[in-house]
Amino acid sequence: MIKQPCILNDVTRCIGCEECVAGCKRVNELPVEDSAPRVGSSSDRLNANRWTTIIRTESGATVRKQCRHCIEPACVSVCPVGALQKTAEGPVVYDSDICMGCRYCMMACPYGIPRYEWDSVVPRVRKCVMCYEKILAGEIDKPGCVSACPKEATSFGTRDEMLAEARRRIAAEPGRYIDHIWGEKEIGGSNVLYISHVDLSFLAWQELSQPGGDSPLPERTWHALRKVPAEFVGMGALMTGVWWVVDRRIRRQKESELQGGGADHE
Ligand code: SF4
Ligand code: SF4
Ligand code: SF4
Repeated sequence: MIKQPCILNDVTRCIGCEECVAGCKRVNELPVEDSAPRVGSSSDRLNANRWTTIIRTESGATVRKQCRHCIEPACVSVCPVGALQKTAEGPVVYDSDICMGCRYCMMACPYGIPRYEWDSVVPRVRKCVMCYEKILAGEIDKPGCVSACPKEATSFGTRDEMLAEARRRIAAEPGRYIDHIWGEKEIGGSNVLYISHVDLSFLAWQELSQPGGDSPLPERTWHALRKVPAEFVGMGALMTGVWWVVDRRIRRQKESELQGGGADHE
């Protein structure tokens, strides 16, 4: 995989067709959803089986939402057992075998991304992984969402290439874009960037906590979490983790036996 892979979302080109959502599901073998909202789904419709989604703004713009693959990811920094990892290449990935189910990552993410398999007997945290393993294995050369987009509203390359492309488009058509690249600097910058004709600050938690918005991520939760003494977190993590890992393995073993045996796959 290229170093610092990056997705550039151009809101001005998006028509809201949701082919990116379908492409993500195809590549990542996620089930097609029923029309009824899944348990734990929020108003943005992201859920454990829907890792990217389209939000329609009041002005009619359609904005793709997905994990930003932050350069300094809050989800990684709060995970007591290292289940979320920033890879050397750049994407932020998740190891369900290590996860102890504390869901600190869900509270910490400033963009309200990670979702939980609330209705599963062996729940995992789920989110966009930038198709990391499939690209690393050479199965695909770009993320499924990017390949599926009929309007080139979402592009893939190195972060430097995507920043240059974003600057080129803004300079070429200054009347079309707000002169800003979301994700270049916010919260340390990210490997998913946006250019747009509408303000996109609503994608971050400050606005998500407003009535009618996306999953609430109140500031007090984040600040409270940061103030928990490390020793307390460590002891709590240890006790909860031991219980969680043992219980999880027992449940997975039972599930595997019920399904006729076989290895434990993600
Ligand atoms: S957007 Fe959220 S889940 Fe994704 S890397 Fe950043 S903090 Fe983690
Ligand atoms: S980068 Fe891959 S996992 Fe992420 S939304 Fe696109 S297709 Fe889905
Ligand atoms: S496939 Fe492209 S145009 Fe369609 S909703 Fe997704 S980003 Fe927008």
